[in-house]
Amino acid sequence: MPIRRVIAVLASLLVGAATLVAVPTEAMAAPNFKAPFPCGQRWTYSHHSAEVRRALDFVRADGGVTNGTPVLASAGGTAHRYSQPSGAGNYIAIEHGGGWKTYYFHLSAYSVADGAQVSQGQQIGVTGATGNTTGPHIHYEQLYNGVGQDIVINGSGLAYPGSYNQYFLTSDNGCGSQPGKPFNTWGSGVRVRSDAYLSSPVVATLGGPTAVRVLCQKQGDTVNAEGYTNNWWAKLASPAGFVSNIYIDDPNAVLPGVPVC
Ligand SMILES: [Zn+2]
Repeated sequence: MPIRRVIAVLASLLVGAATLVAVPTEAMAAPNFKAPFPCGQRWTYSHHSAEVRRALDFVRADGGVTNGTPVLASAGGTAHRYSQPSGAGNYIAIEHGGGWKTYYFHLSAYSVADGAQVSQGQQIGVTGATGNTTGPHIHYEQLYNGVGQDIVINGSGLAYPGSYNQYFLTSDNGCGSQPGKPFNTWGSGVRVRSDAYLSSPVVATLGGPTAVRVLCQKQGDTVNAEGYTNNWWAKLASPAGFVSNIYIDDPNAVLPGVPVC
Protein backbone atom coordinates (compact mmCIF):
# COMPACT_ATOMS: atom_id res chain seq x y z
CA MET A 1 0.00 0.00 0.00
CA PRO A 2 1.40 3.45 -0.82
CA ILE A 3 2.40 5.34 2.28
CA ARG A 4 -0.26 8.05 1.80
CA ARG A 5 -2.97 5.42 1.57
CA VAL A 6 -1.65 3.69 4.71
CA ILE A 7 -1.85 6.98 6.62
CA ALA A 8 -5.37 7.61 5.37
CA VAL A 9 -6.50 4.14 6.47
CA LEU A 10 -4.82 4.53 9.87
CA ALA A 11 -6.43 7.93 10.33
CA SER A 12 -9.89 6.61 9.51
CA LEU A 13 -9.36 3.68 11.90
CA LEU A 14 -8.32 6.09 14.65
CA VAL A 15 -11.34 8.32 14.05
CA GLY A 16 -13.61 5.29 14.07
CA ALA A 17 -12.12 3.98 17.29
CA ALA A 18 -12.34 7.37 18.98
CA THR A 19 -15.99 7.73 17.99
CA LEU A 20 -16.90 4.27 19.23
CA VAL A 21 -15.25 4.88 22.60
CA ALA A 22 -16.23 8.51 23.13
CA VAL A 23 -19.97 8.48 22.51
CA PRO A 24 -21.18 6.03 25.18
CA THR A 25 -18.68 7.34 27.77
CA GLU A 26 -19.84 10.95 27.34
CA ALA A 27 -23.49 10.01 27.50
CA MET A 28 -23.17 8.10 30.75
CA ALA A 29 -20.60 10.02 32.80
CA ALA A 30 -22.18 12.42 35.26
CA PRO A 31 -20.47 15.75 35.94
CA ASN A 32 -18.53 15.93 39.23
CA PHE A 33 -21.40 17.66 41.03
CA LYS A 34 -20.58 19.82 44.04
CA ALA A 35 -22.79 21.23 46.82
CA PRO A 36 -25.19 23.98 45.64
CA PHE A 37 -24.08 26.42 48.37
CA PRO A 38 -20.86 28.33 49.15
CA CYS A 39 -17.44 26.94 50.04
CA GLY A 40 -17.00 26.04 53.70
CA GLN A 41 -20.68 26.25 54.65
CA ARG A 42 -22.30 23.29 56.46
CA TRP A 43 -25.93 22.47 55.63
CA THR A 44 -28.27 19.63 56.64
CA TYR A 45 -30.66 17.92 54.27
CA SER A 46 -33.74 15.73 54.11
CA HIS A 47 -36.22 14.12 51.76
CA HIS A 48 -39.88 14.27 52.78
CA SER A 49 -42.47 11.71 51.72
CA ALA A 50 -44.43 14.03 49.40
CA GLU A 51 -41.24 15.17 47.67
CA VAL A 52 -40.99 15.18 43.89
CA ARG A 53 -38.54 12.74 42.34
CA ARG A 54 -35.27 12.20 44.25
CA ALA A 55 -34.95 15.75 45.55
CA LEU A 56 -33.18 16.77 48.72
CA ASP A 57 -34.03 19.94 50.64
CA PHE A 58 -31.10 21.82 52.21
CA VAL A 59 -31.02 24.29 55.12
CA ARG A 60 -28.00 25.81 56.84
CA ALA A 61 -26.63 24.11 59.95
CA ASP A 62 -23.59 26.27 60.66
CA GLY A 63 -25.26 29.14 62.47
CA GLY A 64 -25.68 31.16 59.29
CA VAL A 65 -29.05 32.27 57.93
CA THR A 66 -30.48 30.11 55.13
CA ASN A 67 -32.57 32.89 53.62
CA GLY A 68 -30.45 35.10 51.36
CA THR A 69 -27.49 32.72 51.03
CA PRO A 70 -26.07 32.42 47.49
CA VAL A 71 -27.08 29.35 45.49
CA LEU A 72 -24.19 27.98 43.39
CA ALA A 73 -24.09 25.94 40.19
CA SER A 74 -23.11 22.42 41.24
CA ALA A 75 -21.51 21.94 37.80
CA GLY A 76 -21.05 24.08 34.70
CA GLY A 77 -23.67 24.35 31.97
CA THR A 78 -26.47 26.46 30.52
CA ALA A 79 -28.82 28.03 33.07
CA HIS A 80 -32.51 28.63 32.42
CA ARG A 81 -34.90 30.62 34.59
CA TYR A 82 -38.41 29.41 35.39
CA SER A 83 -41.24 30.49 37.65
CA GLN A 84 -43.97 28.27 39.10
CA PRO A 85 -45.73 30.29 41.82
CA SER A 86 -47.81 27.35 43.08
CA GLY A 87 -44.91 24.90 43.23
CA ALA A 88 -41.21 25.32 42.59
CA GLY A 89 -41.39 29.11 42.86
CA ASN A 90 -38.57 30.92 41.11
CA TYR A 91 -36.18 28.26 40.01
CA ILE A 92 -33.20 27.57 37.79
CA ALA A 93 -32.44 24.49 35.74
CA ILE A 94 -28.90 23.95 34.48
CA GLU A 95 -28.31 21.75 31.43
CA HIS A 96 -24.90 20.13 31.89
CA GLY A 97 -24.79 18.16 28.64
CA GLY A 98 -24.82 14.39 28.25
CA GLY A 99 -28.44 14.26 29.44
CA TRP A 100 -27.66 15.69 32.90
CA LYS A 101 -29.62 18.51 34.50
CA THR A 102 -29.86 20.05 38.00
CA TYR A 103 -32.74 21.99 39.62
CA TYR A 104 -32.61 24.76 42.25
CA PHE A 105 -36.09 25.71 43.57
CA HIS A 106 -37.66 28.44 45.75
CA LEU A 107 -35.11 31.18 44.92
CA SER A 108 -35.78 34.69 46.23
CA ALA A 109 -33.84 36.06 43.24
CA TYR A 110 -32.04 34.94 40.10
CA SER A 111 -28.37 35.89 39.73
CA VAL A 112 -27.87 35.03 36.06
CA ALA A 113 -29.69 35.79 32.82
CA ASP A 114 -31.91 33.19 31.18
CA GLY A 115 -29.70 31.09 28.89
CA ALA A 116 -26.44 32.12 30.60
CA GLN A 117 -23.39 29.88 30.47
CA VAL A 118 -22.39 29.26 34.07
CA SER A 119 -19.34 27.63 35.60
CA GLN A 120 -19.19 25.34 38.61
CA GLY A 121 -19.30 27.38 41.81
CA GLN A 122 -20.82 30.43 40.13
CA GLN A 123 -23.71 32.09 41.97
CA ILE A 124 -26.93 31.47 40.05
CA GLY A 125 -29.50 32.68 42.56
CA VAL A 126 -30.35 33.55 46.15
CA THR A 127 -31.94 31.12 48.63
CA GLY A 128 -35.54 31.98 49.42
CA ALA A 129 -39.03 30.63 50.00
CA THR A 130 -40.90 31.36 46.76
CA GLY A 131 -43.56 28.88 45.63
CA ASN A 132 -44.98 26.09 47.75
CA THR A 133 -42.70 25.83 50.77
CA THR A 134 -42.92 26.15 54.54
CA GLY A 135 -39.67 28.10 54.79
CA PRO A 136 -36.44 29.11 53.10
CA HIS A 137 -34.40 26.20 51.73
CA ILE A 138 -32.70 24.99 48.56
CA HIS A 139 -34.67 22.23 46.87
CA TYR A 140 -32.01 20.51 44.79
CA GLU A 141 -32.25 17.74 42.19
CA GLN A 142 -30.04 15.86 39.73
CA LEU A 143 -31.78 14.42 36.65
CA TYR A 144 -30.53 12.15 33.89
CA ASN A 145 -32.59 12.20 30.69
CA GLY A 146 -35.41 13.82 32.68
CA VAL A 147 -35.46 11.19 35.42
CA GLY A 148 -34.55 12.16 38.99
CA GLN A 149 -31.44 10.38 40.24
CA ASP A 150 -30.14 9.70 43.72
CA ILE A 151 -28.02 12.74 44.47
CA VAL A 152 -24.25 12.34 44.27
CA ILE A 153 -21.89 15.08 45.53
CA ASN A 154 -18.13 14.83 44.96
CA GLY A 155 -18.63 11.25 43.81
CA SER A 156 -20.47 10.10 46.95
CA GLY A 157 -24.18 9.32 47.17
CA LEU A 158 -26.04 11.29 49.85
CA ALA A 159 -28.41 9.72 52.38
CA TYR A 160 -32.21 10.24 52.18
CA PRO A 161 -33.21 10.95 55.80
CA GLY A 162 -36.82 11.92 56.58
CA SER A 163 -35.83 14.92 58.69
CA TYR A 164 -33.06 17.49 59.07
CA ASN A 165 -30.06 17.36 61.41
CA GLN A 166 -29.25 13.70 60.83
CA TYR A 167 -26.93 14.20 57.87
CA PHE A 168 -24.75 17.17 56.95
CA LEU A 169 -22.81 18.34 53.94
CA THR A 170 -19.95 20.86 53.96
CA SER A 171 -19.41 22.54 50.62
CA ASP A 172 -16.14 22.68 48.73
CA ASN A 173 -17.87 24.29 45.77
CA GLY A 174 -16.01 27.32 44.52
CA CYS A 175 -13.19 26.87 47.06
CA GLY A 176 -10.61 26.48 44.33
CA SER A 177 -11.94 29.20 42.11
CA GLN A 178 -11.58 32.09 44.52
CA PRO A 179 -9.30 34.76 43.07
CA GLY A 180 -5.92 35.56 44.53
CA LYS A 181 -3.27 33.67 46.49
CA PRO A 182 -4.00 32.72 50.12
CA PHE A 183 -1.87 34.18 52.93
CA ASN A 184 -2.34 35.01 56.58
CA THR A 185 -1.77 38.40 58.10
CA TRP A 186 -0.11 38.87 61.48
CA GLY A 187 -0.22 41.59 64.09
CA SER A 188 -3.29 43.35 65.42
CA GLY A 189 -5.10 46.52 64.43
CA VAL A 190 -3.73 46.23 60.89
CA ARG A 191 -5.23 48.88 58.67
CA VAL A 192 -6.52 48.10 55.19
CA ARG A 193 -6.50 51.19 52.97
CA SER A 194 -8.23 52.04 49.71
CA ASP A 195 -4.83 52.41 47.98
CA ALA A 196 -1.14 51.79 48.63
CA TYR A 197 -0.52 55.13 50.38
CA LEU A 198 -0.54 56.18 54.02
CA SER A 199 -2.83 59.04 53.05
CA SER A 200 -5.41 56.61 51.55
CA PRO A 201 -8.58 56.19 53.61
CA VAL A 202 -8.77 53.21 55.97
CA VAL A 203 -11.50 50.85 54.71
CA ALA A 204 -11.11 48.08 57.33
CA THR A 205 -9.00 47.11 60.33
CA LEU A 206 -7.89 43.52 60.92
CA GLY A 207 -8.23 42.75 64.61
CA GLY A 208 -5.76 39.87 64.59
CA PRO A 209 -4.23 37.30 62.25
CA THR A 210 -6.60 36.92 59.31
CA ALA A 211 -6.78 34.56 56.32
CA VAL A 212 -6.71 36.75 53.21
CA ARG A 213 -6.36 36.30 49.46
CA VAL A 214 -3.89 38.62 47.71
CA LEU A 215 -4.95 39.59 44.19
CA CYS A 216 -1.79 41.52 43.25
CA GLN A 217 0.86 43.80 44.77
CA LYS A 218 2.34 47.18 43.95
CA GLN A 219 4.80 49.76 45.26
CA GLY A 220 3.41 52.70 47.20
CA ASP A 221 4.40 54.62 50.31
CA THR A 222 7.29 53.23 52.32
CA VAL A 223 6.12 51.81 55.63
CA ASN A 224 8.34 51.47 58.69
CA ALA A 225 6.76 49.12 61.21
CA GLU A 226 7.53 46.11 63.40
CA GLY A 227 11.24 46.53 62.62
CA TYR A 228 10.75 46.29 58.86
CA THR A 229 10.85 48.78 56.01
CA ASN A 230 8.86 47.98 52.87
CA ASN A 231 7.16 49.98 50.12
CA TRP A 232 5.25 47.03 48.65
CA TRP A 233 1.53 46.68 49.35
CA ALA A 234 -0.79 43.73 48.85
CA LYS A 235 -4.22 44.18 47.27
CA LEU A 236 -6.71 42.01 49.18
CA ALA A 237 -9.86 40.45 47.76
CA SER A 238 -11.74 40.81 51.08
CA PRO A 239 -11.77 43.20 52.79
CA ALA A 240 -11.14 44.92 49.46
CA GLY A 241 -8.15 47.20 49.84
CA PHE A 242 -4.39 47.42 50.35
CA VAL A 243 -2.28 46.35 53.30
CA SER A 244 1.47 46.80 53.67
CA ASN A 245 3.35 43.62 52.76
CA ILE A 246 4.94 43.89 56.20
CA TYR A 247 1.71 42.49 57.65
CA ILE A 248 1.50 39.53 55.25
CA ASP A 249 2.93 36.49 57.02
CA ASP A 250 5.67 35.72 54.49
CA PRO A 251 9.44 36.27 54.85
CA ASN A 252 9.72 37.96 51.42
CA ALA A 253 9.33 41.72 51.01
CA VAL A 254 7.84 41.04 47.57
CA LEU A 255 5.33 38.17 47.82
CA PRO A 256 6.20 35.13 45.70
CA GLY A 257 3.63 34.04 43.13
CA VAL A 258 1.65 37.29 43.31
CA PRO A 259 1.44 39.47 40.19
CA VAL A 260 2.18 43.18 40.17
CA CYS A 261 -1.01 45.27 40.03
ZN1 LIG B 1 -38.14 20.04 48.15
